[in-house]
Amino acid sequence: MKKLLSLCLLAIMVLDASAAVAGSNKIVIAHRGASGYLPEHTLEAKAAAYFMGVDYIEQDLVMTKDDKLVVLHDHYLDRITDVMEKFPKRFRKVNGEKRWFAIDFTLAEIKSLKVTEGFNIKDGKKIQGFSGRFPMFSSSFEVPTFEEELQLIQGLNKSTGKNVGIYPEIKAPWFHRAEGKDISMAALNMLKKYGYTTKQDKVYLQCFDPNETRRISKELFPKLGMQLKLVQLIAETSWNETMEKKNGKFVPYNYDWMFEKGGMARIAEYADGIGPWKPMLVKNESTRSKLIITNMVKDAHTNGMEVHPYTFRLDNGRIPPYAASFEDMLDIFYYTVDVDGVFTDFPDRAVNFLRRAEYQRQGL
Ligand code: CA
Repeated sequence: MKKLLSLCLLAIMVLDASAAVAGSNKIVIAHRGASGYLPEHTLEAKAAAYFMGVDYIEQDLVMTKDDKLVVLHDHYLDRITDVMEKFPKRFRKVNGEKRWFAIDFTLAEIKSLKVTEGFNIKDGKKIQGFSGRFPMFSSSFEVPTFEEELQLIQGLNKSTGKNVGIYPEIKAPWFHRAEGKDISMAALNMLKKYGYTTKQDKVYLQCFDPNETRRISKELFPKLGMQLKLVQLIAETSWNETMEKKNGKFVPYNYDWMFEKGGMARIAEYADGIGPWKPMLVKNESTRSKLIITNMVKDAHTNGMEVHPYTFRLDNGRIPPYAASFEDMLDIFYYTVDVDGVFTDFPDRAVNFLRRAEYQRQGL
């Protein structure tokens, strides 16, 4: 009896320990799914991420010609599909380059495309973006709709009894609006349909366009009777990530105010968190012996916001010189810079790192 009791106690202790680890506030976000291992944003990459034990899985949202939401990183199709072979004439020219825009294709047409690991065209040849990843144009993948992905994650939540969250991004709302589409409204309606309506629900909604993030917070949420956690993504102005119309012309949105004093307080008026680029937190000039850490995390935390930087990659050349390894980079960001979560293409490594680090911190 005594032995049984102590066994029970031991079991309780073990349970407690895992609960404490699970209770850690630091999170792992699967960036485009487990995209380091399988073509980005495919359902296969999402299912893989799910079973790696991540907290959140990311969806980038883009609209089709027939107003369906699909999960795609770019608002064009040519980097990750065979669209140029299947629809050779259906491109637009942007700055002299041919681009096949998702918004010019129906969902049925997009579903007819083969999805592959991403590539760039060089001298007429397709060169894989990350050469060490899943081989190009092998096996069989397709572009999922947002709804299919929500059903996948909620289905797995039911069958496993877990509650893995979603992390959708509204892509280029300024572009969709210019094409006569309100992508934010469509995304919110879909989220509402699947039961994501409050800040307690396991969802972060993210957007690079500050005008749109503010609009979602101040206009669309009240209008739809919902209130989700919102994350303001931060870009460098020079990337032309967000455009806005001034005097009838599109000009790059100027992000400079976010880096100035009081910038985080202004974001906190409408958002619950920020998604900065890694070098905005730890400067690239940093060395092993001297990290140059900006005030952004401290300022964001002071203003009650969470910080989820992007993107943690394991591929050649993607680990900055100030970090000894991928895990060292995670250690610097999670525990020295004190971020609340990371976007990573290799979520298994981040999940394992956090688990180990938490056990160590508890002396287990
Ligand atoms: Ca994204």
